[in-house]
Amino acid sequence: MKYVERVISEYEIKDKSMPEFIQALKEVLLSTSVIFEKYPEYEKMAILERLCEPEKILQFKVPWMDDLGTIHVNRGYRVQFSGVLGPYKGGLRLHPSVNLGVLKFLGFEQVFKNALTTLPIGGGKGGSDFNPKGKSDNEIMRFCQSFMTELYSHIGPDVDVPAGDMGTGAREIGFLFGQYRRIKKMSERGVITGKGLSYGGSLARKQATGYGLIYFVKEICEYHNIEMANKKAIVSGSGNVAIYACEKAQEYGIKVVAMSDSKGYIIDNNINLDVVKNIKEQLRVSLSEYPTLANSGEYFEGSIYDANIKAEFILPCATQNEINETRAKQLVDNGCILVGEGANMPNDNEAIKVYLENGVIFAPGKAANAGGVATSALEMTQNSMRLSWTFEEVDEKLQQIMASIHEQCLTAMQRYDLDSKNYVASANIAGMEKVIEAMIAQGDY
Ligand code: NDP
Repeated sequence: MKYVERVISEYEIKDKSMPEFIQALKEVLLSTSVIFEKYPEYEKMAILERLCEPEKILQFKVPWMDDLGTIHVNRGYRVQFSGVLGPYKGGLRLHPSVNLGVLKFLGFEQVFKNALTTLPIGGGKGGSDFNPKGKSDNEIMRFCQSFMTELYSHIGPDVDVPAGDMGTGAREIGFLFGQYRRIKKMSERGVITGKGLSYGGSLARKQATGYGLIYFVKEICEYHNIEMANKKAIVSGSGNVAIYACEKAQEYGIKVVAMSDSKGYIIDNNINLDVVKNIKEQLRVSLSEYPTLANSGEYFEGSIYDANIKAEFILPCATQNEINETRAKQLVDNGCILVGEGANMPNDNEAIKVYLENGVIFAPGKAANAGGVATSALEMTQNSMRLSWTFEEVDEKLQQIMASIHEQCLTAMQRYDLDSKNYVASANIAGMEKVIEAMIAQGDY
């Protein structure tokens, strides 16, 4: 049995209760098997076993009191996956679907994504099964304070630097940072990123993941001679990533014809983003309000990917496993030519196969959404230097980083003779080779 296949089958037994982690392992390992064929000595060095096992996993209870005085207990986690390239770096997800398997999948992906940014950051991920929806600001604050009361002793600017993710926005980061500062009695701004601008945050961090996705799509379009203007796009989600992906896409003349949230989706000729921002950033309600507030478009319940919408660009920016084989086939039938992942693993492995078999360009989240973590690392740099760059300075660096990630993918394609539309293998290879090189150099065994 080949090395890669042996390791996958071992994990299928060991981590059988973690389907998302196994899915991510398969995506990464099968697409990078050429590395292990080229360097058979890696098997003796147990490179894959060392790569697939997190360095440390923390699990802890998070008790908090609601406004009526009832006590709740959630589970908190931090998966410190790999520190060979720098301090563990990755967001905190607050969502009822969070469990150890989901965080192991996200942490594993984060290692290679962070390597692609070329910045000195390792990979980690954390979060809780706490649901911030419908909670008051005070309840959110009490939860965040309780979470940080346990986490604080495991993180630090040179140890582990958490950030936002689903359910963790500027409000939550503020409460988490405040509790860290109170307990540590130190002003270590670089301990967490996604902070507010008045206390060490970076301009353009809020926009970075969505903008970065579109900068990556732009690199692809330039390389493959595709005109961006007037193409139609579906953007799933209407959270942080989706909103700023839509904003930059519209700036480039792309027509965003549909967006979604966890309950339903809206269809409009060209989405009115100001209305979506108002609904999601201010009112914090469902997209069902859109037709009334925008005075145009229609709202439907269900998944955006079950609707029969014609679009050339598909930009999934909500959550994992939104698109399976059947939905991918329908997207191809509806004229899709490029899929760029703003979310982490929104396409399952069968959906990716459908794209590659049908000549659709596929840009995986690991490369396409790396702008968020890259800008988090730029926030850490500004914190260390005790200065703040302008929006334009950060945005320019973000564009350079996304262009460099694209360039690294092209180099891997050429070195391993890969199809120029197959960014999944090239991104995985480019990220993994960096991590392996650092592991070997550091004698990590
Ligand atoms: P947000 O919480 O801001 O937004 C998430 C969006 O996804 C919301 O519109 C939410 O709907 C929708 N959603 C949640 N669950 C489902 C579901 N089961 N089906 C359909 N839609 C759903 O998160 P972010 O925008 O920050 O993150 C989105 C994705 O991007 C995640 O995969 C995250 O890991 C990834 N990512 C985020 C980065 C960042 O910088 N924020 C960086 C890199 C990756 P509703 O409004 O109803 O809750």
